[in-house]
Parts: sequence; C-alpha cells; structure tokens
Amino acid sequence: MSGRVIVVGSVNIDLVARVPHLPHPGETVTGGSYERHHGGKGGNQAVAAARLRRPTLFIGAVGDDTFEKEARRALSSERVDVSMVASLPGQPTGVALILVDATGENEIAVVPGANGAIEPGYVRDCLARLGPLVGDVMLVCNEVPLHVVREALMCGAAAGATTVLNPAPAIGIDRAIFGLADIVTPNRNELATLLQTEATRTGRRLDTSTDAAVRARALLEPGPEGPGVRKAVIVTLGASGVVVLERVGSGLSANDGADAGPAADAVAAGGDETAATSGTPASTGAAPASRAASRSAAPRRSDLRVWEVTAEKVATVDSTGAGDAFCGALAAALAEGRPLSEAVQRAVAGGALATTHVGAREGMPTRAELEAFLAARQPA
Ligand code: ADP
Repeated sequence: MSGRVIVVGSVNIDLVARVPHLPHPGETVTGGSYERHHGGKGGNQAVAAARLRRPTLFIGAVGDDTFEKEARRALSSERVDVSMVASLPGQPTGVALILVDATGENEIAVVPGANGAIEPGYVRDCLARLGPLVGDVMLVCNEVPLHVVREALMCGAAAGATTVLNPAPAIGIDRAIFGLADIVTPNRNELATLLQTEATRTGRRLDTSTDAAVRARALLEPGPEGPGVRKAVIVTLGASGVVVLERVGSGLSANDGADAGPAADAVAAGGDETAATSGTPASTGAAPASRAASRSAAPRRSDLRVWEVTAEKVATVDSTGAGDAFCGALAAALAEGRPLSEAVQRAVAGGALATTHVGAREGMPTRAELEAFLAARQPA
C-alpha cells in the first residue's frame, strides 16, 4: 500500500546576515551581506518528502504579513499541498534571525509567530476532513505548541496513519507525548534531553551508558508516566549514521509476526547489545523490562531488533538540515510501503546527500539524485 506524507509542523523565513563579527549587546555591526532562505523544520521535511515524489500535505500556519505568500509559494512550488496552511490574522509568519560571523560562528533568534499560535482544534479539523489515513505517514516536529503535537499524534493514530515524531527541539516532550508516536527520531542531543526531562520529572534513574542503543531503550520501555514509543526509536548520530531499535511485531518490517529468526537468535544468545552489521536488522536480548518474564519463559524470542546503519561517505559541506532530510526521506519511504530497514537506508542516504549542499531546504535531494546515489552504492 502506498500513501501520502502529512507533515504537521513549522514554517519559517530565515533572514541571514553575514557580518564581520557578532555584535556585543548594544553594538551595531555594519557591512556584510544578507540572504533570505525558507526554513522551519516542518517546511523542510515536507519539501524533503515532496522532492522524493511522495504526495505531501503540510498542516501548519503562516501569518498575515508580507512573508505569508512567499512562505506558501516556497512550499507549493515544490509540489507540497498547502491547502491546509492557515493564515492567522494578527500574527507574523515565523522568522529566524541569524547572524553569522567570518568564522562561521552564529547567533540565532527564532520568533515562532504563527507557528506558535496554531490551535489543536485546527489540526483536528484538518485531519477530520482528510478522513481515514491508513497507508499515510504523519510526520510531526516540535516547533509548534506541545498540545498541537499531542493532538496531531492522537488524531493521526486514530485515523490509521503511521505516526513519526521528530522531537526537535526536544524541550518539553514527555512520555505522554512520545508514547503516542509509532516512531521517534531524536538526534544524540535530543535523546539526552528526552531522558533527562523524564529523570527530572519522575526521579527515574538515568542510564549513564554512552551507547545510544542502550540509552534509547528507555524510550521503548514502559516508564513511571505511561507506555513507551509504540514501534521504533531511530537515533540519528550525524556522520556516524543511525541506530534503530524496533519492537518485534511492530508491523514495520517485512518479517514481522514471525519469530526473530536464526540470525537474531544468535545475536540474542551472544548477548551483544547491538547487531553491528550495517543495515541488517537482528534482534537482541535488549528486552523491555516488562517483557523480561516472558523472555525467560521463551528464551529464543527477543523483543527488540536493534541495528546500526553507518552514514554514507560523502563530501560534506554543510550539515544543516541533515535531520530534516532524514525524516522526510524516512516518511516518504514508509509511505511507499517499504519496510523499516529499507526506509532507514534511504533516509540515511537522503541525510548524507543533504550535507553535500549549502543550506537546509535547498539541499534536500530529489528522487533522481537519491536513486542515482543508491544505485551507485549497490554491490556489483
Ligand atoms: P540533525 O540534523 O537533526 O542533528 P543528524 O546530524 O544526526 O541530525 O543527521 C541526520 C542523519 O543524516 C544522520 O543520521 C546521517 O545518516 C546523515 N548525516 C548527517 N551528517 C552526515 C555527514 N557528515 N555525512 C554523512 N551523513 C550524514
């Protein structure tokens, strides 16, 4: 089955001034150059999915100012459906004011404007108008209010979509929110924030392991405040690639429903934390605590598949937007009905390609670029 990508998130105009040095408080710096870019994680992720030729719909908001039309056009010219982008009276379109000095150091102020004024009821109504979302993938980032994120995840799941939460920024996201998502995609820092937030709220002990796979397991286990992520956690590790933790039986993989298989059992028996083979899913003994009893009752069956995919080697010039490219490509591949392992491979390639261009949205790869890149890496 193949479906759409529905993005619920932010759209910004990025105003970038390149200046000789960053001003001190009260100082005016004159000179340099000025550029305007289209940004916002939601907008970037929608463009990433649309360039990969997946029908993509954006649910979000712009203001009623001079940037409104420009922000809409930047999405619609990339074939993103903007019919559910609201124009909010009295609100500015979201802007990021970015100062960059000669060494590349920056200072950024983000004014969410309309992104921060979206109402949960608006998202609920949009989704109700779309009807059943079976086969569709909903991708939600955290640059809109938390209660909007929650509403989107709840309504998306109720309508049958596969829901993906990109917890960026991770601030304020607790289990009541990430526990609603089928898949959560933190980067290393966001993973740390999610775990620290929970430790602070509940007194839960923080795992001090430096291994992302070990730490991320807590997001899938039940916690003091509810169940964990429904199906999978994918931690993005920049130039080191990703680690994926997927519940066996998640329905995201081609071999679901069956036992984890011989290779998986071998890993579980060996007690390794992570199947080090790049891109080859295998189960481990990394079972959520609540399943420990059933694991000992059925020792050959594991509860999580854990695997790593190493990043593609590319000539990186700017890694801004890699995470957005990754999420957009992941959602597009899942909406095409691809199993999780294949979707992650494509997303890793998308993230790498994005780093070979300057700029975030500008660098999102096209379908042709992605296919050519993957084809060139096929073993002969
Ligand atoms: P974010 O931009 O959200 O911080 P990451 O930096 O982890 O996210 O990047 C997302 C993904 O993009 C990574 O998991 C990796 O697959 C790919 N990627 C990022 N940086 C590079 C790089 N320098 N070389 C190759 N791939 C990269």
